[in-house]
Amino acid sequence: MPLTYWCEHAWLGTHVEPGVTLEVTDGRLTAVRTGTDTPPPGAVTLRGLTLPGLANAHSHAFHRALRGTVQVGSGTFWTWREVMYQVASRLTPDSYFALARAVYAEMALAGITVVGEFHYLHHAPGGTPYADPNAMGEALIAAAGEAGIRITLLDTAYLSSGFGAAPDRHQQRFSDGTADAWAERASFLKDRDGVRIGAAIHSVRAVPADQLSTVARWAADRGAPLHVHLSEQTAENDACLAAHGCTPTRLLADHGVLGPRTTGVHNTHLTDEDIALLGGTGTGTCMCPTTERDLADGIGPAGALQRAGSPLSLGSDSHAVIDLLEEARAMELDERLRSRTRGHWTAAALLHAATAEGHAALGWPDAGRLETGALADFTTIALDTVRTAGPVPRLAAETAVFAASAADVRHTVVGGRHVVRDGAHALVHDVPRALTDSIAALHR
Ligand SMILES: [Zn+2]
Repeated sequence: MPLTYWCEHAWLGTHVEPGVTLEVTDGRLTAVRTGTDTPPPGAVTLRGLTLPGLANAHSHAFHRALRGTVQVGSGTFWTWREVMYQVASRLTPDSYFALARAVYAEMALAGITVVGEFHYLHHAPGGTPYADPNAMGEALIAAAGEAGIRITLLDTAYLSSGFGAAPDRHQQRFSDGTADAWAERASFLKDRDGVRIGAAIHSVRAVPADQLSTVARWAADRGAPLHVHLSEQTAENDACLAAHGCTPTRLLADHGVLGPRTTGVHNTHLTDEDIALLGGTGTGTCMCPTTERDLADGIGPAGALQRAGSPLSLGSDSHAVIDLLEEARAMELDERLRSRTRGHWTAAALLHAATAEGHAALGWPDAGRLETGALADFTTIALDTVRTAGPVPRLAAETAVFAASAADVRHTVVGGRHVVRDGAHALVHDVPRALTDSIAALHR
């Protein structure tokens, strides 16, 4: 017996269509019917604008515990990182599960149906492996399951502190020692329902050049996504130039890291040659505008990257806020500030980055669109709130991208399961309480 959802309005990739019926069987869309003015008998009504599920392509779940605490005083990315390491030092598999469950529930409430978790907090303090060496990664997978969203666990190789230096006191928890040891541990993690395993290179700072290809090969052997923080800070570029005589992008290219399964995260401070290399190899770009502005990183050349051939996705990264609509409009609005011209991306293009491209970057090419055969993952934005009321319905996509916020999300459906209903999470009943309790436990 198929499940039926009726959308008052639905965004079908190019335009907003009124009266769309979605039929779901075994977690997939088996029919997308237009021209249905009223809900068919037995259908669940989704009032507002239904979008494909939003993909949060870059997350560090534990950074959510820093919200607010890092907004006092001045500093740089590097001083922020010291505070971040303090929180990291307190996490255990149990406390990380509790925090991530709450953070992923917040994501579901924001319309996010899949998270790309860039995970490097592998071991106990001092670097001792847990009895299950993947206890932390499994805690994140379990947390996503309890919050009702999909996860791509991007298990991250983090082996050194800067070029040629051993991991510092904080970073010992992140390190497997060598890329071969990283690969052996990561190989024990398996894909399962709602879960994909991918790989990540923390950065060219954190993986020695002669071990980059080990990680790249591991991902290639599995057809898995491979992500890497790339040129977020000019200091990384300067250090790479001093150590290797080239840019981080060139170093990755020379060691076989770039390609269509690879996504560079941030891609902020690039040369023209870097942009051509990323675009020419089909390497993706994950922009995280709310984090990039929060950490004073700079504005990456997203438009130039896309024109060169790099698909764009979006992530909330440090979770200064968790709002993919804000990430989407920020990419356009940052470009307006830099160029002093408007209209670099349409609302449809920004939604495409937040949905289909984000899913593709995380290894879910069969999600992120409302089409027969796709995974039944979607979310509904209310069009009757103080932020979204007013415009004509055919401009609902523009309203959603340029005026709505995560607070306007009414429904989130993952694999046909109604995870968020009328603004309430069906599985984690008090998400604010879950966040408060799990974060308070870390600051005690
Ligand atoms: Zn990051």
